[in-house]
Order: sequence, then C-alpha cells, then structure tokens
Amino acid sequence: MQDKSLSIAEPVESPISQKIGASMIAAAILCALIAASGPGAAYPILFFWGIIVLVFAGTISYSIPYFKAIPGVKNNGVMQNPATNRGAIAWGVAMLMTGFYIILYWFPSYLEGLIRMMDPLSIILRNTKADHWFLYGAFYTIAVLVMGIKFIAKYKYSRYQVIRTISVMFFQLGFAFLIPAFLMKLNQPEFYFSYFWPLKYSYIFPNDVNNLIQSGNIGVFMVFWGLVMTFIATPILTYNYGKRWYCSWVCGCGALAETLGDPYRQLSDKSLKSWKIERWMVHSVLVFVTITTALLWLNSWKNGTILGDASGLFAQWYGFLIGSVFSGVIGTGFYPIMGSRVWCRFGCPMAAVLGLFQRFKSKFRITTNGAQCISCGNCSTYCEMGIDVRAYAQKGENIIRSSCVGCGICATVCPRGVLKLENLAEEGRFEPYKRDEL
Ligand code: SF4
Ligand code: SF4
Repeated sequence: MQDKSLSIAEPVESPISQKIGASMIAAAILCALIAASGPGAAYPILFFWGIIVLVFAGTISYSIPYFKAIPGVKNNGVMQNPATNRGAIAWGVAMLMTGFYIILYWFPSYLEGLIRMMDPLSIILRNTKADHWFLYGAFYTIAVLVMGIKFIAKYKYSRYQVIRTISVMFFQLGFAFLIPAFLMKLNQPEFYFSYFWPLKYSYIFPNDVNNLIQSGNIGVFMVFWGLVMTFIATPILTYNYGKRWYCSWVCGCGALAETLGDPYRQLSDKSLKSWKIERWMVHSVLVFVTITTALLWLNSWKNGTILGDASGLFAQWYGFLIGSVFSGVIGTGFYPIMGSRVWCRFGCPMAAVLGLFQRFKSKFRITTNGAQCISCGNCSTYCEMGIDVRAYAQKGENIIRSSCVGCGICATVCPRGVLKLENLAEEGRFEPYKRDEL
C-alpha cells in the first residue's frame, strides 16, 4: 500500500474542472467590462450577483484538483505555464491589472457603470452610494477571499498556512472592509484598524489627527489606537514574533500578495543586486515618510509658517508616488511579471520598520538543519521576498533577514523538513541551531 506522507502531490481529478473554473472567471471579467461600459448602472443587482457567483464558483471549480490532491504542495508546470512564467498570458493579466489601477486612480469616470453596480451593497453597508474607492475595496476583498480559498486548498496539509490565510482573510473582510463601512453608516470617520503609521502614513499627520479628535470620542479612540499600535504594540509583537505577525497575518497588502499573488511568488528576483536595491529603496521611503511626518508636525506647531503654501505638498506627493504609483500600479499590477511582493520588498515603510526590529531585536528566526538539505532549491525558488534560503540551509545557518515576512512557504515546500520558523530566546539567535540539545 502506498504511504501517502511520502507521495509526490498529484491531483486525482481531471483538469477539466480547472478549465471550467478559468472560463467562469474569464466570464466574470467580461461581465465586469460590460457593466463598466454602462449596463452595470441599469441592472446593478444582476451584474453584481452574476460576477460574484461566477468568481466564487469559478475559483472553487478551479481548486477542486487541489482539494482532492494527495499530501504535498503541487507546483507542477509553473515554469512552463505562460500564465506563471512571464509568458503571453502573464503579460495580458499584468496589463489588465495595471490598466485597472490607472483608470481607478486617475480616470474613475470610466468605471461609472461598475461603481453604480455597487450601489445596493454600499447603501446596505454605508448608507450612501458607492464611489470608486468602495468599488476598489470590494474587488480587493473578493480577490483575497476567493484566492484565499484556492490557497487553502493548495496548502491544506500545512496547518500554519491554513491558519494564517484564514487570518488575513478575516482581517481584510472585517477590519479593512466591513468595519470602515459600518463606521460610515454610524456617521463616524472611515478608519482602518488594521493599518498603522508609517504604512497608513496620514494617521499621525496633524490634519488627520485634528480631524479625528474633533469628530468625537470614537475619533479620539482611533488616534489613541493608532499611536498605541505604532509605538507600543508593533515593537512588542515584532520582538516576540518577527515581522510575520503583521506582514503575513494582518496586513491587507500582504493578504493580496499571499492569495492573489501566490501563483507568481517564484518570479521574485533573487539576485544580490536586487537585494542591494531593495535595501536602499525601502529605507529611503521610510526616511521620506518620517521626515514628512516630522516636518508637518513642526509646521503645525509653528502655525504653518515653515511650509506655508507647500504644507500639503509633501503629503500629496508621497500619496501620489508611493501610495498610488508604487503600491498600486507597480506593486500589484506587476505581480505576473515581477512577483507578488514588489511593494513589500521595495516600497513599504512599515516593512522597513518591522525589518529593522526583526534584524536587530527579535526572537524570530528560521532555523536550518543543514545535514538534511538535498539542495533542491525549492525554498529559494518559492521565497517571494527573493531570499536565497538554500544558501543558508546548506551552511546550516539560521536565517535572520530583515526582509523575511515569515510566510513559511520555504518550510512548507521543503521536501526534507530542513527549515523551521521559530521564536526562541533572543540570545544566541545567530548561533547555529543544535536540535539535539533542545
Ligand atoms: S525566507 Fe521563507 S518565510 Fe521568509 S519570506 Fe522567504 S519563503 Fe517566506
Ligand atoms: S527546500 Fe529544503 S532540501 Fe531543498 S534546498 Fe531548500 S532547505 Fe534544502
């Protein structure tokens, strides 16, 4: 009898269900394009539910082989598939996603049909008609949920992967979509309890803080929450668990990268050059947002005399360059070409802060049992942050890298159980792990 725990994963179901699933998702995209061109406003309920049903049913149908597969993680064919090897389909998807972001940010009037399609849901949740940001939030949440289902099907034998995926789906649906909507319904400021400075940079800018405080007790609590999470909870949690507590369990950007971006994680650049560029870029963004925040507070304290008319300019430029162009158009639109964590690696100031803690003051590490490594390279290939995990494993060194988001995929795809994500004592974390002594 075959020992399932030693088998190479192979789906037992015909890929016909995947073809049906892919066709349904293509039909949903077509429906969205038709809705955007006008009919979405005339038949909002028909198009809204039509798209939702097609997307969810298509994803479940596509995931059937994963649900039925025997133990293991199946990545067969990713290097040959034109959708995942920077082939024609990948370029088509990248252009579609990038085009959507460009229209969303700068020409939202072209999405009028789609936006009106969202009116019934927006009125139920927020008591007001939809706008392009509500449309974006809904699409984003649906993407995390449906691709989260697929991710769970694919990695179902890893408890760590299943639980953390449920976690990001929960935070995206609850904290980044439903709660802000209900707050609006209650005439309170729209606030995202799962985003903090410096990722949500404006939450401690003087204007936002003043507006929140003036809005009443709930606004005061929001300011308090933002400050506590930024200056107290973040250092404590990162000390104990590394940056994974946020990047792979809570953050919406991480949620999309882990779910929608999962088919593209092998595309991340592993070169030394990209590592150097990454360090310069991500820390420059952090310096920029820190100086901007300090300047705005100094300016506010001096009654606007320092920056004068340019008061809002810093925030506007930061919002345009980093918030829109980098995190949206490049960070997400280019998933199929540059991998799933471009924004997290090269642009996210929150990742930079968490990474500094993780590198210099944290209990988190990935231990490696080098003697077991067969140098297959799975870990390095599927590391979405471009870390050459195998190089550490071969030397039996602990992996303590500021960029590691603790997704755990390297450990999940390792056929030899070489890698382990751990939060041990801070002392000796750079020492090789001696399993026999523990
Ligand atoms: S080293 Fe492993 S846990 Fe860290 S980001 Fe890469 S794949 Fe994820
Ligand atoms: S996946 Fe495991 S066995 Fe393969 S190179 Fe990485 S650590 Fe070694």
